[in-house]
Amino acid sequence: MPNDSWNPSSNSSGKTSSNKVAHVNKTEASIIVEKCIGDGACVAFAPNAIRLNSENIAVIEDQNGASDDELLLAAQVCPVKAIQIRDKKSGKKIWPLD
Ligand code: SF4
Repeated sequence: MPNDSWNPSSNSSGKTSSNKVAHVNKTEASIIVEKCIGDGACVAFAPNAIRLNSENIAVIEDQNGASDDELLLAAQVCPVKAIQIRDKKSGKKIWPLD
């Protein structure tokens, strides 16, 4: 069986045990739950990092379940700017822009 790419989640048989990839991110996402309207747009862009809870409110499931770029995109598609992105090291807010 050809192996056209290296996959850290592959087991010794070459089968993929999970599609999740752990990212080492420089940014951190947080949800302003009071703003969330539960449309799920963010989940579509970062499904391994953000999910909707039983009340249809977005929650961070795994900060490293999406790349920095994917988290930023998820925040940028939020229609009510309920997702903040901060630089982990400096704490500086990257999104939303004021
Ligand atoms: S895109 Fe924004 S409003 Fe929609 S579910 Fe995500 S956080 Fe909530």
